[in-house]
Amino acid sequence: MRKRIAIVGAGLAGLSAAALLAKKGFDVTVFEKNATPGGRANRLVTPEGFTFDTGPTLLLMLSSLKKLFKKLDRDLNDYMQLKLLEPSYRVFYSDGTEFNSSTNIALMTKEIREKLQNEKEIESYLRFFSYLSRLYRLTIPHFVDRNYRRLSDFINPKSLYYLATLKMLGSLYRKVSSYFEDERLRMLFSFQTMYLGISPFEAPSVYGVVTYMESGEGIYFPVGGMYKIVESLERVAKEYGVNFRYNSEITKIEKEGGRAASLTINNSTTEKFDVYLVNADLPYAYETLLGETPKKNVVPQNGDLKTSSSAYMMYLGVDKQYTHLLHHNVVFSADYKRNLDDIFERQVLPDDPAFYVCIPNRSDPSLAPEGSDAIYVLVPVPHRTPNVDWERDEPAFRETVLKRMSERLGMTDIKDHIVYQKTFTPDDWASQYNLWKGSAFGLSHSFFQSAYFRPQNKSKTLENVYFAGASTVPGNGIPMVIISGSLAAARIEEDMS
Ligand SMILES: Cc1cc2nc3c(=O)[nH]c(=O)nc-3n(C[C@H](O)[C@H](O)[C@H](O)COP(=O)(O)OP(=O)(O)OC[C@H]3O[C@@H](n4cnc5c(N)ncnc54)[C@H](O)[C@@H]3O)c2cc1C
Repeated sequence: MRKRIAIVGAGLAGLSAAALLAKKGFDVTVFEKNATPGGRANRLVTPEGFTFDTGPTLLLMLSSLKKLFKKLDRDLNDYMQLKLLEPSYRVFYSDGTEFNSSTNIALMTKEIREKLQNEKEIESYLRFFSYLSRLYRLTIPHFVDRNYRRLSDFINPKSLYYLATLKMLGSLYRKVSSYFEDERLRMLFSFQTMYLGISPFEAPSVYGVVTYMESGEGIYFPVGGMYKIVESLERVAKEYGVNFRYNSEITKIEKEGGRAASLTINNSTTEKFDVYLVNADLPYAYETLLGETPKKNVVPQNGDLKTSSSAYMMYLGVDKQYTHLLHHNVVFSADYKRNLDDIFERQVLPDDPAFYVCIPNRSDPSLAPEGSDAIYVLVPVPHRTPNVDWERDEPAFRETVLKRMSERLGMTDIKDHIVYQKTFTPDDWASQYNLWKGSAFGLSHSFFQSAYFRPQNKSKTLENVYFAGASTVPGNGIPMVIISGSLAAARIEEDMS
């Protein structure tokens, strides 16, 4: 009889694991609380003709998606047409400088020379880039794309050598500052840790790998939108026989003698499986579905689990095009550190927020009506905290963000052109996807929540319970959760053989 595997959640990690396990011959059922797959990688299509990807917009480290499709005996190019975006994005500094960031060394050199007028920093850029490239090539196979079963998998002569020679443990901002004197370049090469929901002042410098994913490997976009990735994975999973059950929230996983015994769907029916793979956010799942403290399953066991920041979102359909904006645009606040401290230390809404604006119809005009822009705005904010009552504070914060867009991006008439709008707060991340503390990016990526120290993908107390997704190994972001799905599938397969 084929082993029956239940997967809780159809996020990107759940979809990846489902397809891989079904291909290996397991009988796989995916339960998803929402009506559609993708989780945070969702899509919004409006009656006015705007299409928004509501979560991830940057496809980084394409090799991870390619590798997954290869393992599934599929060619990624048969499923989507990918565009490499050049320049990668435009950065807007508070001193009025506009800088085009690129994977192209000649263009970067020109931008540093002409826009920053800082000839000396060209040499620093080349040295830093060489460091980043080595860091990336060593980190991914040795620390990211691997399962940790014991401490020696993490602490061994080779890893200690890499940790020491690449000085992976100081803060990323400090590392970047050791190369650059120009604060604008320090910001440019460190802010990427915000994709992991951690401040660059706190993130270990090993997370320079994310900077490299952008500046070395480039940013891709699937024509039609990021949701193509979700649709393609669901399709392949179905081709291998995965059974998808939408609108099916798992409300409890019952335990019996050191094993999970059954799960309850929508507080009503109960079903039994051999293996339970949880893609729902790990700390939420431990607390709510398994009735356990996540701490019990983490090393070291002192101290609370730290979660990442969150995101306030605005999806705006406007009947006008702001042509000076590219597909991706990053707006820095005047005081980089203060903005980050508002989010991570003081946990308040920043009064001068940094933000990111995505206009996907620059790359695929079919995503907005002719002459219009689909404008996605992501503002980094604290995860749920008693300091912010979103019900009360959201209208004023929305005004602050629109004012900043007007001042910093010259979108002075934006309010007159909005024909569609929707906002999304940390409360919505919590209620729609069961994200712990409404944090958009899962558990934080501090040193003691990375690699071997991150909650692992197999329960320490329940023999047949596994995890995949942003809050387990290796971490947050599309490439990481795809790897997470593969690692969990490999571990289950090994344990079952
Ligand atoms: C605003 C935003 C922007 C981002 N931008 C980028 C980007 O540009 N590039 C990038 O690489 N990454 C980005 N990310 C990160 C990326 O989206 C995530 O890392 C990834 O989508 C997480 O996938 P996952 O499978 O871990 O979890 P999820 O997407 O959270 O999937 C988990 C699924 O489980 C379901 N679920 C939860 N509880 C239950 C239950 N009890 N029963 C049944 N189902 C349940 C949820 O509904 C969800 O569908 C972004 C994230 C956000 C929020």
